[in-house]
Amino acid sequence: MRIEMENLEGSVGKIAHVYEPEELDLLDEQVHLRGPASLEGRVKRSGSQVFVTGHIEATAQVECDRCLKPVDLPLSTDFELEYITGEDYKSTGMVELPQEAMSLSVFDGEAIDIDEIVREQVLLLVPARRLCREECKGICASCGADRNLGDCHCEKSEVDPRWAALKKSQEQAKSAVKAAAPKKRKISAAARKRIGDATRKRWAAYRKAGGKKAEAVAKAGAAS
Ligand SMILES: [Zn+2]
Ligand SMILES: [Zn+2]
Repeated sequence: MRIEMENLEGSVGKIAHVYEPEELDLLDEQVHLRGPASLEGRVKRSGSQVFVTGHIEATAQVECDRCLKPVDLPLSTDFELEYITGEDYKSTGMVELPQEAMSLSVFDGEAIDIDEIVREQVLLLVPARRLCREECKGICASCGADRNLGDCHCEKSEVDPRWAALKKSQEQAKSAVKAAAPKKRKISAAARKRIGDATRKRWAAYRKAGGKKAEAVAKAGAAS
């Protein structure tokens, strides 16, 4: 819907329109109108400037960031917009433009696109963070189950199913190699310790005997 400047009676006009969801594409893949969106407002012309003020109510539908379920967002806003033509914008210069909250747009001087206003205001109201509820657990990255409905069996091993399959085939290959290899004699840890202890005892006994022997040899040498 466009407001033609030449159709403005006097200098003030009223605008009122209810958009059906299919009538207004929000041009955002992630935000859609859930139901009708209503716009009520006024258009005021003052020289080459045009002021549009109004109120918009709509219900948008977005996807939950975590579980991807649709979430309805009731939205309501008052807006104030100022329009000037591109030529005026150039001749006025940035310094003289009003700095208040009113946002400034440039138009062709002939008509103002109201659809664009509704689209912009609705998208401005949609929060960047979209959750069906604050404690939403989201969906499991492995099996795709909705974790809000209960825990799936992927919880303990957070492994991608493709990696799990690869790991399994690697293990199968490894055990096949093992089965084909000649059997080695296995020595248990306890057996290894027993052998070690016995060896240490033998060496200790040998050193002890050797020491005595050396002592005896030295004595014998001194005596002779
Ligand atoms: Zn959710
Ligand atoms: Zn899972």
